[in-house]
Amino acid sequence: MSKQRTYLDNNASTPLRPEARAAMIEALDTMGNPSSVHAEGRAVRGLIERARENVANLMGARASEVVFTSGATEANNTVMAAGWDAICVAGIEHDSVLAPARASGATIIDLPARADGLVDLTAVAQPLAEAAAGSGRALLSLMVANNETGVIEPVSDAVALAREVGAAVHVDAVQGPGRLPLDFAALGADFVVVSAHKLGGPRGVGALVIRDGVSLPAFIKGGGQERRRRGGTENVAAIAGFGAAAAALAAETGAIERAGALRAELEAGVRRMTPEAVIVAQDSARITNTSCIALPGKAAETLVIRLDLEGIAVSAGAACSSGKVGSSHVLEAMGLPPEITRSAIRVSLGPQTREADIAAFLAAWQKVAGPAVIAA
Ligand code: PMP
Repeated sequence: MSKQRTYLDNNASTPLRPEARAAMIEALDTMGNPSSVHAEGRAVRGLIERARENVANLMGARASEVVFTSGATEANNTVMAAGWDAICVAGIEHDSVLAPARASGATIIDLPARADGLVDLTAVAQPLAEAAAGSGRALLSLMVANNETGVIEPVSDAVALAREVGAAVHVDAVQGPGRLPLDFAALGADFVVVSAHKLGGPRGVGALVIRDGVSLPAFIKGGGQERRRRGGTENVAAIAGFGAAAAALAAETGAIERAGALRAELEAGVRRMTPEAVIVAQDSARITNTSCIALPGKAAETLVIRLDLEGIAVSAGAACSSGKVGSSHVLEAMGLPPEITRSAIRVSLGPQTREADIAAFLAAWQKVAGPAVIAA
C-alpha cells in the first residue's frame, strides 16, 4: 500500500488514539493477575479501575455500573440472552442485536422503521404494554444512531415508553460517543452498550453499562471478575486503552461540528457530480460524520472496490459482515427499493478527517461514479 490512502470508514473502526496506545503499552508492561491480592495484582487492578472511571465518566454512569466485555457484540448478546419473554426491536438494528434477539426464544415485537430511517414507537406501545403486563419480562431495544445511515433514533422517547409500560430498555450506543452529544445519565436506560474501537480505542473491548439495581445473569460464567457479571481474566491492555481513549474523547472539542461541515461539502460534491445519487435519510437528524450514498444501477460492492483501488476506504452496508454481497438489511427495513438497498455505500468521517480527505474522495468519486464512466 504505497499509494496515499484516505480512510473514510470510521463507523467500522477508528484509528487508535495516541493516548490509548500509550496506556496499552504501559499495561502490557505491568505484570500480574488483577485478581491477585499482592502488590503486582493490585497495580494491574488499578489500571482496570482507572479505565472504568474514564468509561463511566464518558457514559454518565457510576464506575460500579460498567462491565467490560470483548466488545459491543458480546454486550448486546449478553442483554438479549437474559431470558426475556418479549423483545421489541427494529429491523434497522445491528446484527449483534438482531441475531441473538431472534435466537433467544422471546416473542419478537417488530418496531417498524420508516423511509426516513426513524422508528415508529407509537406502533408498538400496545403490544409492548401487553407483553409487559403481569409478570412478563419485556425488553425494548433501540440504537442511539444507525451505523449505516447515521439517523439519530428517539432513544429518550423509547425510555419514556418503556417506563410507562413497565418494560426494560437496552440502548446500543456504539455510534454515539464522539458523534453526538448525549446525556446518558439523564437517559436512564437499563442497559447501554459501547465499543472502544469506534471511539479511538483498541478493537476487541467494549462495555455494558448496567444501571445500578438492575440484575442480569452472567453471560460468561466461571470467574468472579467484573463483580461476577463477566468471568475471565480481564484483557487489561485493551481495557486500559479503552479508558484512555474515553478520557481523550471526553476532552475533545469541535470534532462533531468539523465533521458536519466536511460532510456537507462531501454531499454537495456528490450531488453536483452525480445528480442521480440518493443520499439516504438526508432530511433526518443524522450523526454528523455519516453519509449513506446510493447510486442506482451500480452495485455497492463494485463502488467500494473501485474506490478502494483509487485509495479510498469506505464500506457497503455493515462492514462487520464484509464479504457479504447483496443488499443492506438496514435500508430494506426502512422499506427502500432494491435499486437503493443494493447500491448504497457508507462514508464515515472521523476526528482525524480533513479537507484533503474530502477532496480525495470527490476526485475518486468523479472517476468511479461520474458521467464519463457511466457512459463508457
Ligand atoms: N452495534 C453497532 C451499531 C455497530 O456499529 C457495531 C460495529 N459495527 C457493533 C454493534 C458491534 O461492535 P463490536 O465491533 O465492538 O463487536
